[in-house]
Amino acid sequence: MIKLSKSSVGKEEKAALSRVISNSYLGMGPEVELFEKELKDYIKTSKKVIAVSSGTAALHLSLQACDINSNHEVLVPSITYVASFQAITASGATPVPCDIDIDTGFIDILDAKKRLSSKTRAIMPVHYASNADQMGKVYEFAKKNNLRVIEDAAHSFGSYFDKYMVGHKGDIICFSFDGIKNITCGEGGAILTGDKKVFSKLRDIRLLGVKGDSARRYSKTRSWQFDVEEQGWRYHLSDLFAAMGREQLKKIDSFKDKRKKVVESYIYNLKKIDGLQLLKINYENNHQHIFPLRVLNKQRDKLKKYLEEKSIQTGFHYQPNHLLSKFKTKYRLKNSEIFGEEILSLPLHPELTKKDINHVINSIKSFFD
Ligand SMILES: *Cc1c(COP(=O)(O)O)cnc(C)c1O
Repeated sequence: MIKLSKSSVGKEEKAALSRVISNSYLGMGPEVELFEKELKDYIKTSKKVIAVSSGTAALHLSLQACDINSNHEVLVPSITYVASFQAITASGATPVPCDIDIDTGFIDILDAKKRLSSKTRAIMPVHYASNADQMGKVYEFAKKNNLRVIEDAAHSFGSYFDKYMVGHKGDIICFSFDGIKNITCGEGGAILTGDKKVFSKLRDIRLLGVKGDSARRYSKTRSWQFDVEEQGWRYHLSDLFAAMGREQLKKIDSFKDKRKKVVESYIYNLKKIDGLQLLKINYENNHQHIFPLRVLNKQRDKLKKYLEEKSIQTGFHYQPNHLLSKFKTKYRLKNSEIFGEEILSLPLHPELTKKDINHVINSIKSFFD
């Protein structure tokens, strides 16, 4: 089976895990502090970095750190992983699904504008398929309407926006390092922000709200006498996961090259097929996490089945969230609904071989012939 996505880990990660195990300190400690510093250096940002246990935790904590709660609404594109929606409801706030631009899968700001209310406090744009090109428009809109921007950058670690790496600038940026993302900790995430107040809250609420505990944990101690001001969570990263992430970060250029080659091959070979519509995004800027394309004329499910028979795994990124029972809206979102029925993601990970890629391309061509 050619897998849709897959982590790429090897002896370096094994050695790092075994080094941490030998130190017999597995909690949040010096590896986490180093991982945060190395993330900051990689992105070349003046922002602060907080490592956490998942991308979902990163989003949830960011909302809480902005004082967003059950009195508030958050604008979010319907086309995203359910994690974005669950993070919003975890904070108590109500997710307000917005439509997308059908060419890119990115949130449609004109639609978002229609959904503003007196309760709207934030917008959570998703860098769908690693693309952050339209973030300028989001910030313009947010500024005009006094909204916080919490970027769901789960797809775009290592992508560029406006000549800078994603995370270099912006309000609050959340990454995911789960098992199949651009780099992995096994499970993990990170938050970047330049807002000192938000940062200081985040550091405490990722670890049960124990004030000042992060600094002590970095030197392998902990607090016995402390104050707690806020609801906190056990959303910190352990040294084991951080050690793994540090090794992955060293390999990122090679991951990026390999993903780029697959993407170039797909684009070159599939762009002329009539029944397919590629996304209109600037692949050049991206560290491409997924490769979704639209299958026109209601052929998507047939193509998926055909590829499955040829041992090729594909996926749907994503079903529209506003159609799920928990998040159902009274209004329709036309583009999201079309997108949800047409979108199909092809295999993309660093370990695909030339033979795999050719098999995917030839199978798609033979389907349309
Ligand atoms: C993976 C993902 C998340 C959640 O990250 P986890 O680390 O899996 O919790 C959120 N949003 C999007 C778009 C994702 O792809």
